[in-house]
Amino acid sequence: MREFTETIQFLFPHVTRRKVKTRGENNNVSVLTMFDGINIKPLESISYKADPPLDIQLLIDLLPENGAHEQINNESVCCKLSSNYLSNGNPIVKTIQFNCDKTFSVTIADKQIDLKSIGIDNTFQCTKDGIGTVFKCVQKIRLCIGMTVNTNIICTRFHVLEQLNVNGETYRQLRSTLCSRVVKFNATSQTCRTCQHMTRTLKTCDSDKENRPKPKHGPEMPPSCSVTKAQLQQMIPDAPDHMIELLLSQFKNTGKHPKGRRWSKDVMNSSLQIFTRSPAVYKQIRDSQLLVLPSPSFLLTYKNKVKHNVGFQHEIFRYL
Ligand SMILES: [Zn+2]
Repeated sequence: MREFTETIQFLFPHVTRRKVKTRGENNNVSVLTMFDGINIKPLESISYKADPPLDIQLLIDLLPENGAHEQINNESVCCKLSSNYLSNGNPIVKTIQFNCDKTFSVTIADKQIDLKSIGIDNTFQCTKDGIGTVFKCVQKIRLCIGMTVNTNIICTRFHVLEQLNVNGETYRQLRSTLCSRVVKFNATSQTCRTCQHMTRTLKTCDSDKENRPKPKHGPEMPPSCSVTKAQLQQMIPDAPDHMIELLLSQFKNTGKHPKGRRWSKDVMNSSLQIFTRSPAVYKQIRDSQLLVLPSPSFLLTYKNKVKHNVGFQHEIFRYL
């Protein structure tokens, strides 16, 4: 240890040394020596690009014997790697294009893959090992399998339906037309971001409502927004104003995404009164789906935004 310290101080005369006490797992105190002020320059990136371009024949000779290849021109050669995926009966093939400037690119199902986005550098070393490494890397690239079709999914123009066959099993999948074809090595999902977002938009996007299948049974309801306060008053002449407001809010907000719901001041005030009286009861009414009501967190935000005036509010006394 002493030797190490001396070496460090010899190599970096400006560093300051300090000791830090830390507690280990068994509450043992250990002393760490810290050196402050050491700056290490990052190594310059090793670039093979400056070297003279490769001879295409040398490149072909280095390819694995079993890899079928196809020379495109004097500057690049293509190799095809099969995957265990079939899309609509056609195998999904990964194509590696080796270029003479010691770079390579990967194409999957006619889509150029952004290698950087999945953490692969696009240069290779022109040795048997170097090319073997590229093959191993590309073999390991994980493919996006799209989204599984289910009844909740609404169709847009921006996806394709695909019969995906994985290891002999067939699945019906939806794939975004902009699908990036690959997922990151450490991703928890087998579906790329683009395909995932496609379904999220499908679930909430208002512009796609016309494509939503209509319920087959029951009378056709008028679109909720077409019910007006006046119509409701006509239907239930004896209903007080705040009941009409509540009913109107039910017409407008039932079946809407929680973030798309809109509430009138009356409904907000009444909900807030119940909520402040008993959050538990309020939660129970919401959970029972008896009424569609604003969420407690939204009520609290609303409460904090509203200006408070001094004095008594007779409305509240009525509820107490
Ligand atoms: Zn995808």
